[in-house]
Amino acid sequence: MRFQPADMLGRLPEQFFARLVGKVAAKIQAGHDVINLGQGNPDLPTPPHIVEALKKAADKPKLHRYSPFRGYRFLREAVAEFYRREYGVTLDPEREVAVLFGAKAGLVEISQCFLNPGDLALVPDPGYPDYWSGIAIAGAEMGRMPLTAENGFLPDYSMLSARQLERAKLMFINYPNNPTGAVASREFFRETVEVAAKHGILVVHDFAYGAIGFDGRKPVSFLEVPGAKEVGVEFYTLSKTYNMAGWRVGFAVGNESVIEAINLIQDHYYVSLFGAVQAAAAEALLGPQDCVKELVSTYERRRNAFIGKLREAGWEVQPPAGSFFCWLPVPKGYTSESFADLLLERVHVAVAPGNGFGEHGEGYVRVGLLTEESRLAEAAERIVRLGLFSPSVN
Ligand code: PLP
Repeated sequence: MRFQPADMLGRLPEQFFARLVGKVAAKIQAGHDVINLGQGNPDLPTPPHIVEALKKAADKPKLHRYSPFRGYRFLREAVAEFYRREYGVTLDPEREVAVLFGAKAGLVEISQCFLNPGDLALVPDPGYPDYWSGIAIAGAEMGRMPLTAENGFLPDYSMLSARQLERAKLMFINYPNNPTGAVASREFFRETVEVAAKHGILVVHDFAYGAIGFDGRKPVSFLEVPGAKEVGVEFYTLSKTYNMAGWRVGFAVGNESVIEAINLIQDHYYVSLFGAVQAAAAEALLGPQDCVKELVSTYERRRNAFIGKLREAGWEVQPPAGSFFCWLPVPKGYTSESFADLLLERVHVAVAPGNGFGEHGEGYVRVGLLTEESRLAEAAERIVRLGLFSPSVN
């Protein structure tokens, strides 16, 4: 018997990465040496002192039991201390911190918490596709905020209609940005707080790449800006900062009423993370931070190696200011998909077509700096060998 799933499942957006993974797997199976820069999976291991903390904690029988529902107090305190140390932001560990099973789950759940069917949510376009999933599950509508080279890949709030601003209940923003690599200024966040306060919009700032800013520029937390807690929350994850993507540790911080709603929905989905994972997460946040500095320099070296070669060959690409993604405009005559297909077919370099991140992603491909520098340099050389990018062609 085949059972008919609920209508909600039919509303979910296509998981376009699944299609990309299939194409890459077929090429590898055919015996090609594929350099896969299409996905966003950090390639480096978790720093050893964090793994050690997990091992030690795993030996403690007390931690084998169910965790308290909203996570151990020691982890919420570690989060508060991390925000104080890194951003000078004060948080109440009881009321302003929610522990998450990775930021992804929280970013989907928040739409379920705050959107009713027919409500409007504003999303960046291009943007991280999981924002759309929660909106679809809630049966709400999406208003797109275009991120273009002209506006520095920041939403231009003056382009939103009065009706959109009046209807919008919630707004997602994300800096350092996936997929464009843009970083936001404090001034942009100030403007965001102003718009949100004026129109009663809940701001959800996705700070997944909060640690990854280049050229000596440390990304700003949304909560650093006065009034931010009044209108919003910030999502953070250990996946990128500490190479812990497989561990599934994230948290949301900020507005008390929003944290309460996230905690409430999570009480119904989960208990909380394995206690030993929580102990290791606290060690990540409070322990030595040299690993983070090293990580950022590694990505910066990779960025320079990759982008440098492309620019030398005449492809006018901008280096990302943060995140580990490069956002590259495709040459004339190609679409995102046709150019991504060409790179995979002809030179066995996999990249993500920009249209997978929204209609304004058309005309770009996203490259993840998630393999060794030498492989990235080789990927750039292979692309250059196609001969598409002499200064006169581009
Ligand atoms: N937000 C953005 C923009 C991301 O790129 C990712 C992961 O790729 C996440 C959130 C989710 O992070 P997590 O591993 O904590 O679920």
